[in-house]
Amino acid sequence: PAFSSAQSRDINYHLHPYTNAVAHQKIGPRIIERGVGIYVYDEQGNKYLEAMAGLWSVAVGFGEPRLGEAAARQMRKLPYYHTFTHKSHAPSIELAEKLVGYTQGRMSRAFFTNSGSEANDTVVKLVWYYNNALGRAQKKKIIARQRGYHGVTVASASLTGLAANHRDFDLPLPQMKHTSCPHFYRQGRPGETEEDFATRMASDLEALILEEGPETVAAFIGEPVMGAGGVIIPPRTYWSKIQAVCRKYDLLIIADEVITGFGRLGTRFGSEAFGIEPDIMVLSKQITSSYQPLAAVLLSPEVTAVIADHSAALGTFGHGYTTSGHPVAAAVAIENLNIIDERGLVENAAATGAIMQAALLELAGHPLVGEVRGMGLIAGVELVADKESRRPFDPLGATGAAIYERAQENGLIVRGIQDTIAFCPPLIITPDQVADMVALFRKTLDEVHASMPG
Ligand code: PLP
Repeated sequence: PAFSSAQSRDINYHLHPYTNAVAHQKIGPRIIERGVGIYVYDEQGNKYLEAMAGLWSVAVGFGEPRLGEAAARQMRKLPYYHTFTHKSHAPSIELAEKLVGYTQGRMSRAFFTNSGSEANDTVVKLVWYYNNALGRAQKKKIIARQRGYHGVTVASASLTGLAANHRDFDLPLPQMKHTSCPHFYRQGRPGETEEDFATRMASDLEALILEEGPETVAAFIGEPVMGAGGVIIPPRTYWSKIQAVCRKYDLLIIADEVITGFGRLGTRFGSEAFGIEPDIMVLSKQITSSYQPLAAVLLSPEVTAVIADHSAALGTFGHGYTTSGHPVAAAVAIENLNIIDERGLVENAAATGAIMQAALLELAGHPLVGEVRGMGLIAGVELVADKESRRPFDPLGATGAAIYERAQENGLIVRGIQDTIAFCPPLIITPDQVADMVALFRKTLDEVHASMPG
């Protein structure tokens, strides 16, 4: 194809995350120029309904002027200051207070980083520091899950349970272990009920803890609903059973709410939806609608007490970033969270989310569709070669990729996770826009189905 100047320069100078560099030279980038509401526009002026909110993150939609204004105000007043060694500033204080306030006493401190990966990296160090403070230096292993996603730093990629993040990087680190993925449609056994399956998931966790030695296992980390691993909704009682095992062996429970935080599941936090009582919560993405890079780690009063009070004995908590609690990012987060509250976007995620789930479920009879799953404003539609036997396509992922490409030609941005098509639109989406989104998807499914041999 003939590339535009921007496309050629991108190919020549820019190494992209999560991109095959050779394929990139052939395909070229789609250059997104601007965004309004749930839509983005490329440099040719093509309009796309952004059904993934970017990377699961633009809660208030694109082009929200209040966020630009909040950033500009803070830029003019104090564009930067750090939060090391007893320094602070109003935006970081207000944001920490606001986040703790949302948890209604469950959490008592916020630590700031720039990204979800750094936040999970911070969590690993906090867990290790915590156990050192308690004089149990051998209790350091962290159990995550196959298909879980927690980011890409050396420690957070080790928590992630996806081969692509381990292969070629000599990961995971030896302290990180992985237990079963709670995907009933794929992992459930013949004749097993969802309840039995949830019980089996908890026994798998217990078996792993016993195999490793409970005195060596410090924590369990999970996303309330898995996102990047394929939008996996666990059975209703999964989390309470997992939680009981964690409490039995004195494991900290870490809820990675980087996607589920701030309304995605129709509740402010995913933990509320599943009755999770985390010791540590991780927040990012929708915290600023990703208009600015920012993440937060929230600590329960018990963890705070150990970390804060024992730091006198252990010394300074030797961890933090130049831009931890960045004032501009924090000011944008505060304004963004105010918009989420004022516009009732958590409630909209529940109400419009129910409409989206019902509309996607109507596709369950489509010849390509194996499972439709979701909650609030997040969903996954898993495509299969054979509905009856649930046989996946071979090669896995080619159909998902074809849908992804064809959807873009139809003006719809989704995500293909192997052959699961993910939906995670901005929380401002309306019922009419949901109908448009699902109609574009149905059209795409039909076109790809019609082009298949046989
Ligand atoms: N945790 C979860 C649940 C995520 O979905 C992501 C990103 O998709 C991360 C952590 C990593 O965040 P970041 O890409 O900001 O490093």
